Amino acid sequence: MAGPPSGSGPLLLAAVDDTDPYDGYPVQLDRVQEDVPLAQRAVIVHQPEQWPAGCFCRNCKARWPCRLHAWGLTVLHAAGWTGVQIAELVRRAGAGEVPWA
Ligand SMILES: [Zn+2]
Repeated sequence: MAGPPSGSGPLLLAAVDDTDPYDGYPVQLDRVQEDVPLAQRAVIVHQPEQWPAGCFCRNCKARWPCRLHAWGLTVLHAAGWTGVQIAELVRRAGAGEVPWA
C-alpha cells in the first residue's frame, strides 16, 4: 500500500493544536479576587483572530480559546462576573479603555 509521497510537492504547514481544553491553568478559588486584574488582562489580550486555517489567539498564536483566555474567563466567572460584564470589559478595551492603565 503506497503512502503519501515524501520529499516532493509543496511544504504544507499544518496548524498545531497544542492546547487541550481539558489541560488548562489551575484556578485557585481562595484567591480569585486577587487574580481578577490578571484575569481581566488575559481575557482582553488573548482575543481570537480568524485565519484560513482556523481561529487562533492574537497574542500567543495557539488555537483559540487559548489557555490564558480560558483561565481568565474561569477566574472572572468564579469572582462573580457575568458574561455580559466580561463582554463589556472586552468592548471597552477595544475602544482603548483598559483597566490597568
Ligand atoms: Zn492566547
